[in-house]
Amino acid sequence: MKKTASKLTATALALLMLLGVLSVGFAVSAATFSGSAGDSATWEYDTATDTLTISGTGAINGSYMNAYGSMVFEGKNAHECVRSVVIGAGITDIPIEFYGCWYLPEYTVAPNNLNFSSENGVLFNKDKSVLLRYPASASVVTYTVLGGVTEIAAQAFMMSFNLNEVLLPDTLASINHYAFLGCTQLEQILLPDSMQRLGLEVFSECLSLRSLHIPKNLTTIADHKSMADGSLVYLSYTLEEITIAEDNPAYKSVDGVLFNKSGTELIAYPYGSQRDAYKIPDTVADLSYLPFSFIGDDSLPCNLVALVIPPTVASLDLHLGYIGEKCVLYFERDSYAHQYCMEKGITNYVLLEDCPHGFTSGNWETTQTATCTAPGERIKKCTVCDAVLETGTIPATGHTPGQWEITKQPTSTEPGERVKKCTVCKIVLERETIPATGGGVQPPKPNTIFGTKWKATVLNWILFFLCFGWLWMWF
Ligand SMILES: [Zn+2]
Ligand SMILES: [Zn+2]
Repeated sequence: MKKTASKLTATALALLMLLGVLSVGFAVSAATFSGSAGDSATWEYDTATDTLTISGTGAINGSYMNAYGSMVFEGKNAHECVRSVVIGAGITDIPIEFYGCWYLPEYTVAPNNLNFSSENGVLFNKDKSVLLRYPASASVVTYTVLGGVTEIAAQAFMMSFNLNEVLLPDTLASINHYAFLGCTQLEQILLPDSMQRLGLEVFSECLSLRSLHIPKNLTTIADHKSMADGSLVYLSYTLEEITIAEDNPAYKSVDGVLFNKSGTELIAYPYGSQRDAYKIPDTVADLSYLPFSFIGDDSLPCNLVALVIPPTVASLDLHLGYIGEKCVLYFERDSYAHQYCMEKGITNYVLLEDCPHGFTSGNWETTQTATCTAPGERIKKCTVCDAVLETGTIPATGHTPGQWEITKQPTSTEPGERVKKCTVCKIVLERETIPATGGGVQPPKPNTIFGTKWKATVLNWILFFLCFGWLWMWF
C-alpha cells in the first residue's frame, strides 16, 4: 500500500528506464553527437560549447527528447552537461517531455521561428503571452515574469532549485499543472488579482514556501479528485497556511485550510501547519481523494499526529493516499470510517470514546464573557474529542471611563451638570456641577493685544509722553 513519497524520485527512475529503451542512433565524431528529434527534426550536441541544437521542421518528438536526457556524452548525462538549447526556425511544437531536461541554464530560439521566442534564456510562445519553460538551473534567485504573460505552462518552473522568489505580472490568469513542483528554495510567490485558474499540484514539493494566498478572482483550482495526490500543495511540508481573499466567490479558508465556499470539499491542507490534531469539519462528506496523502509518513517532517474524521464522511479511500503511522485516525464508533477501517484491516485508528486527550493545540474558549464588574468563564477542550479538560475564570474587566458629557447647560443663574460614564456598560461613574455663569455680565477679557487693559496702557503712555514733551518744551 505504501508508495514512494516523491514524484521527483519517480521521475528520475523513469528517466533511467528510458536509458534502457534508448533507440536513437547517434553519430560519434570528435565533438558532435546527433540524432533524430522527430519525423523531420534532428538534434545535435556540440561538446565544445555544450549546446544542444534542434533543427529541421515540425514537432519535436517527446520520447526522443526525453531519451536524450539520459544519453551519455563523455561520461555525463546530457541533462547534466547541456548548457544551452537552441530551437531552430522550423520547429512547430515542443512537447512537455522536452522539459525532462531539468538542468538547463538557458533556451535560445531562432528569431525567425514562427511559434516560439526566448528572452533572457526563458522559453515563450511567439507573442510572449505564454511562459513555456524557465531554465531550471539558471542562477537567478528572484525572477520577474514579463508583463503581458497571461499563462504559465505546465511544469514551466519545475525543479528550478535556485529560485527564491518569483514576481508575477498583473496580466497573469492561469498557472498550469506542476508549474512550480519541486522549487525547493521558493519562499515568496504572490498570486496577482488577475489570477483565475490553478492546475494540479502547482506548488507541490515546494519545501520553503510558508504561506499561500488565493486572490479574489481565482475561482478554478483543477479537480484535485482526479488523482490521489493532486493537492495544490502536496508534500509542501513548510506551508503553514493558505489564506484567501474574503470576496473570493468560490473558495474559503478556515484555520488556514482551503475549502470550497460551502465547506463540503476540503481542497488543500497546509502540510506545515503547527497543529498536532486536525478535526475535519462535519460539512465534509467525501474523502475519497484524501487531501492528506503521506501525512504521518515516517520519512517526512509532520506535526499532525491526529486526524479526526467526522461521522458525515461517507466516502473514503485510504489506499489512494497513504497515511503514515505517525498520524492516527480518530472517529466515532460505527461511523462510516470505522466500518471502512475494519473492512480493510486498517488498525491505525482510535475511537473517539477512547481518546487519550494528549492534544495540546486546543485554545481557550470563552463560555461566559467577563463584564465590567463580574468575572467570566472559559474552557479548554481536547482538540480531538471535545472533552472539557480545563476550566478557568476570566477576571472582571473594570469600568472604562469616557469623556465628560454635559447633561445640563448652566445659565446665568442656574448651575449645570456634567457626567463621566463607562464606555462599555454606560453606568455613570462621576457627576459634577457646572457653576452658573452669573447675571449675564461678561467676564473680563484676557490681556490680549485687542483687550481694553492693553488699550488703557497705551493711552497712559501717550499721555505721559505728551506731558513730558510739554514740560521739556516749557523749560
Ligand atoms: Zn480527547
Ligand atoms: Zn463598565
